[in-house]
Amino acid sequence: RPQLVIRDLKAKVEDKDILKGVNLEVNGGEIHAIMGPNGTGKSTLASVLMGHPTYEVTAGEVQLDGQDVLEMEVDERAKAGLFLAMQYPSEISGVTNADFLRSAINAKREEGNEISLMKFIRELDKKMDLLEIDSSFSQRYLNEGFSGGEKKRNEILQMMMLDPRIAILDEIDSGLDIDALKVVAKGVNEKRSPELGVIIITHYQRLLNYIKPDFVHVFMQGKVVKSGGPELAERLEAEGYDWVKEELGIED
Ligand code: ADP
Ligand code: MG
Ligand code: MG
Repeated sequence: RPQLVIRDLKAKVEDKDILKGVNLEVNGGEIHAIMGPNGTGKSTLASVLMGHPTYEVTAGEVQLDGQDVLEMEVDERAKAGLFLAMQYPSEISGVTNADFLRSAINAKREEGNEISLMKFIRELDKKMDLLEIDSSFSQRYLNEGFSGGEKKRNEILQMMMLDPRIAILDEIDSGLDIDALKVVAKGVNEKRSPELGVIIITHYQRLLNYIKPDFVHVFMQGKVVKSGGPELAERLEAEGYDWVKEELGIED
């Protein structure tokens, strides 16, 4: 089973401290939701885990299956099984969706053990079907002209095809109507297994009606300040974050 351990992780951008001691442990089979007000560092956490060069780690450690993630290059992290579906996926002109996916899959495999074209197409078709993605999508350039909802589905398609050990989904639900939300949830639920740990970053409890989290964490001021079960998400939805601040004596 995969295991991601984050200990006292601190990071800054330029001269601003953003992550201020994040602690989190995610095991295979578990779904963790991270909720929190805007601008508290949730996306920064995702970027730091993936090795985004803008952010400087100043303290703490991250381990995936006992390996030091912070020592790894970006491509090594993907190879080790970390996956990030981004809040704002970027467009890549001139690269089709199918080509992108196939090279991403093969980049994770050993040389000489590449996925066959037939097998790739078969799996891609099956998953696009499940996610209700039009078959023309595989030949379109990556994210170019995709609607917000299409981009999000496409990120889930990438997750399903790449078989990560730990998947981080950053606001995969923002801007989705209820039907698209259900489809996205279907993809994640289909992948649910002891071999996958999931971190879902979200503003809204809504998504968690369709993807039941095992743990819910409140993220504020650059760290996890409170953890609980699904009932915590419901309370946040109903009452906002003020009660958490009061309970913990946090000032804005
Ligand atoms: P969240 O995802 O919780 O809304 P972010 O991680 O996106 O929060 O941002 C946390 C803080 O870090 C914000 O104040 C944001 O402006 C700042 N920040 C994030 N990335 C950068 C960057 N590349 N350059 C400057 N400031 C940044
Ligand atoms: Mg935000
Ligand atoms: Mg964010």
